[in-house]
Amino acid sequence: MKATYYHDRADVRVGNLPEPQLIQDGDAIVRVTLAGICGADLDFTQNGPEMGVQQGMRLGHEFVGVVEAVGKDVHAVKIGDRVVASAMFADGECHFCKKDLTSACEHGGLFGSPMFVEHGGEDIQGGQSEFVRVPYANTSLFTLPEGLRSAETDAKVLPLADNFSTGYHGALNAKVQPGETVVVFGDGAVGQSAVMAAGLFDPAQIVLVGRHSGRLAFGRRAGATHTLNGKTDDVVEQVKNLTNGYGAMSVIDTVGNQASLKQSLAVAQAGAAISVLGFGHLYEPVDAPYGDALFRNLTVHTGIVNVVAYMKTLLPIVESGRIDPSILFTDTLPLSEAVAGYELMRSRSEGTVKVALRP
Ligand SMILES: [Zn+2]
Repeated sequence: MKATYYHDRADVRVGNLPEPQLIQDGDAIVRVTLAGICGADLDFTQNGPEMGVQQGMRLGHEFVGVVEAVGKDVHAVKIGDRVVASAMFADGECHFCKKDLTSACEHGGLFGSPMFVEHGGEDIQGGQSEFVRVPYANTSLFTLPEGLRSAETDAKVLPLADNFSTGYHGALNAKVQPGETVVVFGDGAVGQSAVMAAGLFDPAQIVLVGRHSGRLAFGRRAGATHTLNGKTDDVVEQVKNLTNGYGAMSVIDTVGNQASLKQSLAVAQAGAAISVLGFGHLYEPVDAPYGDALFRNLTVHTGIVNVVAYMKTLLPIVESGRIDPSILFTDTLPLSEAVAGYELMRSRSEGTVKVALRP
């Protein structure tokens, strides 16, 4: 079967690889109908050795498809079901899963990444592939509702596997409130998702801060009421101007580096909540004015998404048409052209937000 894999730093390839097989009784095999390229995939391919990525690792953790085979313990999905997978599989039974903290599952991991612990090891494959083995299918796969069960609707559902759900996680943790102002840092797919997800909570103003004029223009389509260019605008002053001098009550930082964290704290008004989703500072200590955060009663919430916990909420919202996450896919390519898809994402070309691959 055709699948993308990591060959060397910044060297992604599409090759013919063995088809996955059922290994454990809770496994399912999914025939992928649409897969996404995520910013994290760029991190894995750019920083492979530092992140523990090995040559030959299959890539991709966002996919929708049709169930082809199930192990004998699988009851939540059946052969022929059209499904979306959580980017992070989870057993659904451990201490953390029972608290809906599925990203911390004791037996879980991220598809197509170095983070897949012992469960099947290299046999857990990436989603940018014709077929994928899904462990713990009862928890990790979701049968799509009736209105979202066609090839035409795959692109609406696919971002729920990771990017859109991550944006929603940010909106929840930043406690977006009706009538208030939310500031989103980062104009990539997660930033655009955070803008869309924030809109579900009816804030008065959604301010998107980015560095690419094309993506900022895209942010208006996603629902931003204002956009600021971090390269040319005084972001803190502009946010203060938009909020009677007080600052925003909610901030979602999808960049997660030193500069964005400092700005996030600076644009927040006393009592505000800041959700840090980006992991730009993964490899360096953070230097932040925590005294200021303390004295102004700021809440800083870090953390990655618990997709399993949100899927039941988000699928009906997408089915209702209230939001359409498919707008994130500015480009769709055949799986055989995945290398070009990675290049589009890497170049951050003005028109590209996110790329989908069709096997
Ligand atoms: Zn678990």
